[in-house]
Amino acid sequence: MATNVLIIGSGGREHALGWKLKQSKHAGKIYFAPGNGGTAAIGENVKLDVEPVNTKNAEAIDYFCRQNKVGLIVIGPEDPLAHGLADRLQRDGRYVFGPVQAGARLEGDKAFAKQLMRAASIPTAEARIFTDYEAAIRYVENHETPVVVKAAGLAKGKGAIVCDNQEQAIDAVNRCMKTREFGDAGNTVVIEERLVGQEVSILALVDGKNIYVLDPSQDHKQVNEGDTGPNTGGMGAYCPTPLVDDAQMTLIQREVLVPTVDAMRRDGITFQGVLYAGLMLTAGGPKVLEYNTRFGDPECQPLMMRLKGDLFQIMTATCDPKGGRLHEVQLDWDKRVACCVVMCSGGYPGKYETGIPITGIEDAESDPDVKVFHAGTKLVKGELVTAGGRVLNVTAMGKTLKEAQEKANAACDKIQFRGAFFRRDIGNRVMK
Ligand code: AMP
Repeated sequence: MATNVLIIGSGGREHALGWKLKQSKHAGKIYFAPGNGGTAAIGENVKLDVEPVNTKNAEAIDYFCRQNKVGLIVIGPEDPLAHGLADRLQRDGRYVFGPVQAGARLEGDKAFAKQLMRAASIPTAEARIFTDYEAAIRYVENHETPVVVKAAGLAKGKGAIVCDNQEQAIDAVNRCMKTREFGDAGNTVVIEERLVGQEVSILALVDGKNIYVLDPSQDHKQVNEGDTGPNTGGMGAYCPTPLVDDAQMTLIQREVLVPTVDAMRRDGITFQGVLYAGLMLTAGGPKVLEYNTRFGDPECQPLMMRLKGDLFQIMTATCDPKGGRLHEVQLDWDKRVACCVVMCSGGYPGKYETGIPITGIEDAESDPDVKVFHAGTKLVKGELVTAGGRVLNVTAMGKTLKEAQEKANAACDKIQFRGAFFRRDIGNRVMK
């Protein structure tokens, strides 16, 4: 009998996960909380308060799951994981995909992550951790080489400030600790050496003890073509990236992923879900910039397009409450390249309008190699309108990265909403 699924989140990542889960004969009805305009077409969007994570809201989600025979809950975004939603929903043998709070701390507390990496000799940037403002200022004043100042807590991907000089570093410490731009997330700052190199995203499924490393991807955080302008939640990603060959994947597994999972197990943490290492490929080898403890958005979208295998079985094997069974599942990849281009609202990542009608998606999807995942969209009286900064994740498959990029860009050209913009150069960093 098929099992109903609840997916928590509202991004392109959640749409892509739902789309892939729906292909499984084991998945029944798919609920999304809150979902978006695209998820409404493949399942049912439901109103459940996910935040704040507290007993009342967790009870309501639990009640909904019992009423609707939901046997698998997938928690997409970092905030509910960091606040312990998985811990609260794991009961009665239910499958909850996403780590417990102690595991999600790897993403939610950069100081904790840094200490874990140090203790386990995992390659990462040299860093100092500060809770005292004066001490942090003194450190940057006496430090000549370029640094990155990071708010230790969750700051919606905006808490890492890459500095070119001391003046910027002092300003960054002030933003975190004095003007408190990131709230409590900036109570502790991590100040680390600035590394140079290409960035890659290595995601792995972890079932508590076994690790299955997914194909490597590269995302593009900056808003403008040529990697300029402020950082965003992600303007596009492609997979696989040729930057990491098999030998390097083995090295990353051995030197980063395995010791991370082992270090958590030594601390009594059973990590079940996605472990994502954001790495810089430096002249001295790959070094960890950050951990995430969930699928990246947009990295998830190309991964789901290429994944061959039953996502329901893969997820339930990963988060089996009786113990992980990743070794039992079949997981393979379409050999082609997938490229995801994010269409945004004019003004993003600053102020933007919402409620603007969107047209042309059907036309864009007339190419069978193209899939349009929704992010900031909603249906208002049957009409699809914009509802966020990142609106659509147009993802295309191609025999080469160039072909995938061209198809994705051509599909974007068929979609219209006032003020829409996107980067045409997703993947160019390796094609040059
Ligand atoms: P994080 O939130 O730690 O991943 O940082 C966000 C972005 O800041 C990364 O994707 C990098 O582009 C940049 N970054 C973070 N740490 C460093 C570092 N040590 N050296 C250079 N760039 C960094």
